[in-house]
Amino acid sequence: MTDTRIPERARVVIIGGGVIGASVAYHLTREGWTDVVLLEQGRLSGGTTWHAAGLVGQLRSHSNTTSLIRYSTKLYAELAAETGLETGWKNCGSISVARTDERMTVLRRTAASARAQGVDCEIIGADEAGGLWPMMETRDLKGAAWLPGDGKANPTDLTQALAKGARDRGTRIFEKIRVTGIRTRGGAATGVETDQGAIEAEIVVNCAGQWARKVGLMAGVGVPMHSAEHMYVVTGRIDGVTPDLPVMRDPDGYIYFKEEVGGLVMGGFEPEAKPWGMDGIPDDFEFQLLPDDWDQFEILMENALIRVPALEKAEIKQFYNGPESFTPDGNFILGEAPELRNFFVGAGFNSMGIAGAGGAGRALAEWIVNGAPTMDLWPVDIRRFAPFNNNPRFLRERVKETLGLHYAMPWPNRELQTARPFRRSPLYDRLAARGAVFGSKMGWERPNWFAGPGEPRETRYGFARQNWFDAVGREHAATRTGVAVFDETSFAKLLIQGSDAAATLGRLCAASVDVAPGRTIYTGMLNARGGYESDLTAMRLSEDAYLLVTGSAQPVRDADWIRRNAPDGARAVLTDVTSSWCVLSVMGPASRDLLARLTSADLSNAGFPFGTHRWIDLGDATLIANRMSYAGELGWELYAPTEMAAGVYDALHEAGANLGLIDAGYYAIEGLRLEKGFRAWGRELTPDVTPWEAGLGFAVALDKPGGFIGREALLTAKEAGPPRQRVVQFVLDAPEPTLWGGELVLRDGAPAGELRSAAFGHTLGRSVGLALLESPDGIDAAFIQTGRWEIDVAGERWAATPHLRPAYDPSGARVRADASG
Ligand SMILES: Cc1cc2nc3c(=O)[nH]c(=O)nc-3n(C[C@H](O)[C@H](O)[C@H](O)COP(=O)(O)OP(=O)(O)OC[C@H]3O[C@@H](n4cnc5c(N)ncnc54)[C@H](O)[C@@H]3O)c2cc1C
Repeated sequence: MTDTRIPERARVVIIGGGVIGASVAYHLTREGWTDVVLLEQGRLSGGTTWHAAGLVGQLRSHSNTTSLIRYSTKLYAELAAETGLETGWKNCGSISVARTDERMTVLRRTAASARAQGVDCEIIGADEAGGLWPMMETRDLKGAAWLPGDGKANPTDLTQALAKGARDRGTRIFEKIRVTGIRTRGGAATGVETDQGAIEAEIVVNCAGQWARKVGLMAGVGVPMHSAEHMYVVTGRIDGVTPDLPVMRDPDGYIYFKEEVGGLVMGGFEPEAKPWGMDGIPDDFEFQLLPDDWDQFEILMENALIRVPALEKAEIKQFYNGPESFTPDGNFILGEAPELRNFFVGAGFNSMGIAGAGGAGRALAEWIVNGAPTMDLWPVDIRRFAPFNNNPRFLRERVKETLGLHYAMPWPNRELQTARPFRRSPLYDRLAARGAVFGSKMGWERPNWFAGPGEPRETRYGFARQNWFDAVGREHAATRTGVAVFDETSFAKLLIQGSDAAATLGRLCAASVDVAPGRTIYTGMLNARGGYESDLTAMRLSEDAYLLVTGSAQPVRDADWIRRNAPDGARAVLTDVTSSWCVLSVMGPASRDLLARLTSADLSNAGFPFGTHRWIDLGDATLIANRMSYAGELGWELYAPTEMAAGVYDALHEAGANLGLIDAGYYAIEGLRLEKGFRAWGRELTPDVTPWEAGLGFAVALDKPGGFIGREALLTAKEAGPPRQRVVQFVLDAPEPTLWGGELVLRDGAPAGELRSAAFGHTLGRSVGLALLESPDGIDAAFIQTGRWEIDVAGERWAATPHLRPAYDPSGARVRADASG
């Protein structure tokens, strides 16, 4: 039963009555926010939700996304008892099979990371898999992974149960009401307009599924996603198919199977998907399907017949072709829009909305109620996208690829291929001419490595050393012993100006930034829990201006954080100036000699100390040189106006030829920074990790005047004794194994954390990584020094040595300090 007359106001209005909107309503009311209205233009679940296959697989690439889905499984198991409505939840478990050795490596890595995340996962042989799934052809299989906690749910029943739970606690649900506009005032949402009148609201939540991009545009908010056709078939009864048959995934064949009424549901994720809805999604696309497309489905059917030969004789009872929304990176979109306060989004579920609904609904409800996420949700945070990601042509091209990512090989360093090149530094053509092999971050084409003459200019993926190993070894060595130039133009750059710029930053940054103009400060920006919202360098350009330099992926997020947390009425203006500046980092012991050939500036240690910057002449250009290093060597970052970059780059090469100057890329940066133990935001530094846990206490000024956001949490944590998690550098004892990040770390044989980043350290001659260790009893130096440490590399354990000081640190300098004078 639904409510009939819409009210004039409500605390929260949710747009969309699919599984996500219902879950957000359910969880808001569980948080005690009961004045909630949910508006659905058709009938509950009639958009995409009704035709989902209902698979619920727990393991995702990020531990917090996994924990959201683990929560979903728990909720779906309990919901019937609470609401009296069945959800169709069945804890049947799931099997993923491997056709190749590489896929087996993936499964072994999965099993290890499952252990790190507390998820049951067992590697089993092909025969054992066949025992669990008797109709399966196993002779060509290498093995399988068994996840007993996975399951399946009935999407429509689940939506109804969530809606009932929400309604029981006060949510009013209206069907056949269409939202036609978003009301705003002073940069915040204030309500919605509908085809039956307006509703004022404190908070508006866009859970409009495939229509969420359109609803976002009503409010000037980017919700980058595009629909693609997504298909499965349902068969008649098949002998041997029983209700408790596990879900089975055969990712090398792009397919999955689950039991339904004694038959099978078989669907999949083909490598090249078919975008849909280029002219917009019809408003009345309710309980509807798209025409069967057996041509598009052929690749799935061929593979299904290989895996389950009994399908040959099975009756195909129904072909489901339903559109679903996919995002540019295959992760869903959660959070408060950076463009508009009080406007939240939960959409773009990439065919994991049923699995994700419980956890995502809870996370979004907590975000609304607390005004901030309660855990690190960066992989799904709406602020990972920028306005250019909402371009329809970009989206259409990109979703052809992202649908298939579900089952594509998750190679280390795997780069997406579609809709590229997208954003190009002015040096792009020059770098390409010198052999750059590009990767993509925040849309920027960035050189990952430089192929030498005669070397193939493509990354060949694998879990062992990849084809660029030697090339990166050259770049690494040049940086450590000579000089290399890195194009780091993709750095996000934010200019904050105004008489209150220093005071504003002072409140936001954990380090003291009230320094003399010309100084450069490394600092974290922390949340109230003391966790890292960002880490950045702040160059004080003048009394009333700072240039903030932060990670390529973070301009929208960091700008949002600064604007949101700036003191009311502060006279400070923030501008994203990323596109105005090219950054060329000249790193290595010979960097001073090289730059001295091009500038009249004093580059001596006394004349240009570490942690300072200034305008200098360089060749024909005038630019800002900043003495900093993420490689841990003597070096300068050169901030050149974009139009000067080509000239600067050419001058560097001309002057550097007889110093052995070479171009270097991001793979080299990774190995260089990890040898030095430098942390990276989004990996080691997250909203859930404090400076104490990160080992970056030196960049915190606890007693600076006026305090800073997160200070109280840091003080409390300091009192509490050794932290329960800690970032620690590890170096493998053996030189051969390759680490990529994500590996399980064991102490005395028991799981103790995971590597957040790893690379080969060409100076150390071994793989090196930074782990986030966890222990409920606290982690102090003795805990680290006394354990027997191992790292699980695809099922094999390798001895590793923890380092409390950087493993590569010739001068004994501190983390983030430039090692050489
Ligand atoms: C073939 C297929 C198989 C799938 N299998 C699985 C699976 O096995 N496991 C899994 O986890 N996921 C699966 N999915 C994905 C899953 O169905 C979706 O991720 C999920 O249903 C999305 O839920 P939603 O609430 O975001 O969207 P929807 O269910 O589409 O809900 C959005 C609602 O918003 C309403 N709305 C839109 N605009 C307005 C407006 N202006 N005013 C009022 N209301 C509006 C719409 O009418 C719609 O009902 C599958 C999808 C497909 C297509």
